[in-house]
Amino acid sequence: MANKDPLMITDKDEMRKWSRSMRAQGKTIGLVPTMGYLHEGHLSLIQESHKQTHLTVVSIYVNPGQFSPTEDLSTYPSDLLGDIQKLKSVPGGVDVVFNPKNLYDYGNNDNGCGVGLDQEGGKVVSCVETGGMGHETWVRVERLEKDLCGKSRPVFFRGVATIVTKLFNIVEPDVAVFGKKDYQQWRIIKRMVRDLDFGIKVIGTELARDDDGLAKSSRNARLSPDDRQKALSISKSLFKAKFAAENGQNDCQELRNAVIQAIHEAGGKIDYAEIVDQESLEKLGEINRPAVFCVAAWFGNVRLIDNIEINVQCASSF
Ligand code: AMP
Repeated sequence: MANKDPLMITDKDEMRKWSRSMRAQGKTIGLVPTMGYLHEGHLSLIQESHKQTHLTVVSIYVNPGQFSPTEDLSTYPSDLLGDIQKLKSVPGGVDVVFNPKNLYDYGNNDNGCGVGLDQEGGKVVSCVETGGMGHETWVRVERLEKDLCGKSRPVFFRGVATIVTKLFNIVEPDVAVFGKKDYQQWRIIKRMVRDLDFGIKVIGTELARDDDGLAKSSRNARLSPDDRQKALSISKSLFKAKFAAENGQNDCQELRNAVIQAIHEAGGKIDYAEIVDQESLEKLGEINRPAVFCVAAWFGNVRLIDNIEINVQCASSF
C-alpha cells in the first residue's frame, strides 16, 4: 500500500521553518540530497535515513552550480511526478520533498543562470557564474576534490560542496545520507563536515546495482540498449579486479591495466581508472591498506562512474 503524500516544499524559508518546528517538538531530521529521476539506489538512502531519524526530507534539485557550461545540465533527466510515486512506495514514505526552483536566485535580477565569465577570462566556470550581483561564494575541499572526477570536471566538487552546505543551512538536518556510488563526493562531504564543524552526522550507504551488476544511475536512462550492454564491462572488470586482489595480486598497475583493457575492448572511453586509499583518496602503487578502485568511462555520450572497495589482509597490518 502506498504511503501518505509527502509535504511538498519549494521555498527555502518555509523549509527552514518546518525543520525548526519539528526540532522544537524533539524530532530528529534526516536529509537525503538528490537530483531526482530516482531509482532504487536513492530509495536505499531513504531507508537508511529512517533507521537514523524520526523524519526524512528528500531534496530534489538539479544543481546548476556543479555543471560547467559544456556538461549535460540541459539533458539531465527529470520526472517529479514519477519521483513522488516512488517516494510513496518506500516503506515509511518520506515526510518532505524539498524541490526548490532556483537556489541561486537572490531576488536581485541576476537569477544565477547565466554562463558569462568563461568567455571573458578563459577560466572554467559553472553554469551559475554571471558576475554582477550573482552567486560568488564557494566551498572547496581543496585536496580531495582535485583528482578522479575532479580532474575532468574542475568545478564539479566545488558546486557539490557548496550546494550541500546551502541545503544543510536550509534544512538543518541531524543526519545526511549519501551513497558510496559517488565515493569521492561522499569523502568530500565527510571531510567538509569535519573541517567546518557542521553538527551533522554523515552516513555513506552501499552502492546499489542492477541485477546484472551495472551501478544504478539516473544517467543510465540515456544509454542505448547496446551501450548499456557494453557498459557492463565496467562492473564485470571491477569484480574481477577485486577477486584478483583478494587472491594475492597487489600490483595496482596490473589491476588497472586489466580494467582499462576490458572497458576499451567493449568500446568505452576511459576517463580514469585509479586505485586509491579509501580515506585520503591518494593513488596506491600496491594494495597494502583499505583501497577503492574507482572508474569513470564514457559509453556513447553518457559518462558513468563505478567503484569497488578492496579490503585485503595486508602483511604490514600484522
Ligand atoms: P544523484 O541524484 O545522482 O545526485 O544522487 C543522490 C544520492 O544518491 C547521492 O548520495 C548518490 O551517491 C546516491 N546514489 C546514486 N546512485 C546510487 C547507487 N547506485 N547506489 C547508492 N547510492 C546512489
